[in-house]
Amino acid sequence: MQVYKFGGASVKDAAAILNLRSIVQAHSGPLLVVVSAMGKTTNALEEIFDLAFTGQDYSIALEKLADFHRTVASALLNKQEVDLVLNESLDGLQRQLTKTRANPDNYDQQYDQVVSYGELLSSRIVARAVNGSWQDCRNLIGTDNNWREARVDWTTSEANLWAMLRGKETSLAAGSPVVTQGFVGRSSDGHTTTLGREGSDYTAAVLAYCLRAESVTIWKDVAGLLNADPKIFADTVRYPEISYRETIEMAYYGASVIHPKTLKPLADRNIPLRVKSFLDPEAEGTLIHDCQHPTLAPAFIRKTDQTLLSFASKDFSFISEENMAVIFAALAQAKLKINVMQNSAISFSVCVDYSERRVSQLLDVLREQFTLHYNTGLTLFTIKNYDAASIARLTEGKRLLLEQRTRSTFQFVCAA
Ligand code: ASP
Ligand code: MG
Repeated sequence: MQVYKFGGASVKDAAAILNLRSIVQAHSGPLLVVVSAMGKTTNALEEIFDLAFTGQDYSIALEKLADFHRTVASALLNKQEVDLVLNESLDGLQRQLTKTRANPDNYDQQYDQVVSYGELLSSRIVARAVNGSWQDCRNLIGTDNNWREARVDWTTSEANLWAMLRGKETSLAAGSPVVTQGFVGRSSDGHTTTLGREGSDYTAAVLAYCLRAESVTIWKDVAGLLNADPKIFADTVRYPEISYRETIEMAYYGASVIHPKTLKPLADRNIPLRVKSFLDPEAEGTLIHDCQHPTLAPAFIRKTDQTLLSFASKDFSFISEENMAVIFAALAQAKLKINVMQNSAISFSVCVDYSERRVSQLLDVLREQFTLHYNTGLTLFTIKNYDAASIARLTEGKRLLLEQRTRSTFQFVCAA
């Protein structure tokens, strides 16, 4: 069994889905297909959810989303099939929104119930278009209820998956793929959960791990794993082959090509990961596996929308282990992930992804004990396997607010 994962760009419209179909048809052997929500659907659902949560009218935005899916489905399927694949999910989404209440205590839980619909809709359309069998991934991946960042229950998921496979053996053997969703799971108390934004790659890895798949292929709009985002940097190079470890580090620093949690389950079972272009399926792409290679060309990674938070103890006492423990606990509670950190005698700075709600939650908890400063709208750059030339190239003309270097990695935060 192989796993193919198609992201938002590869299912963004009817032409993209037809292209996906030709890639799937060119494959022989049992295939599990994991799809993301179409294009920018998840962002649209986040906006609709926020309107519903704050008691505003979301009907126009919802209609737009429904129309978009109907239009794409209609270009691929007949009228009866369109109703069959879309009505149930669209009705379900509508019902969830009606139930959404402005209760800040369970914002994240309610978010998962709504935002998960992007994948449910796209996977229904794709399953029909490729003549595969649709599988609700919530019946496969069991999780805890750490909403929006749910942790996988491996034992439950593995059992669910093998049970599912036994039911689908005949159609898989006949070359009909199983199509399921990325990003979603279900908690033991029966609620939909999500695995974190951009989490569909991780879903593909979880499924491959549990099923001991032969390989995973992530189909992207780039030629493979590159040393920089070609939308931002000119003259990028592709890594033809790279180790799990290098890739995990790049993903951790924010290389957007692969979700950071994807690599570990694959490395644990030695399952190779290919990154290939859906625009050029014959091209080689990148092979990520257990291998040795010489030092790679410097990789440039940019993370935007960063906030630099600096804490100073109010009584000018040193930043001690006790103070750090308080700060770390508050960061974890607010679900703010540290991208880089630095401390001096009386202050401690962290750079995190900006979220107005989470940052203000953090400030509420720490305000009494610490003096806080923070800047928003910043960018964090990381150069992996840096050299003098690559540092000079990236820092030129920028005012650095924080910088840090280890033997292999150079990082700095600057105004956008
Ligand atoms: N649709 C989700 C997102 O946009 C998950 C994914 O695409 O991987 O974050
Ligand atoms: Mg994506």
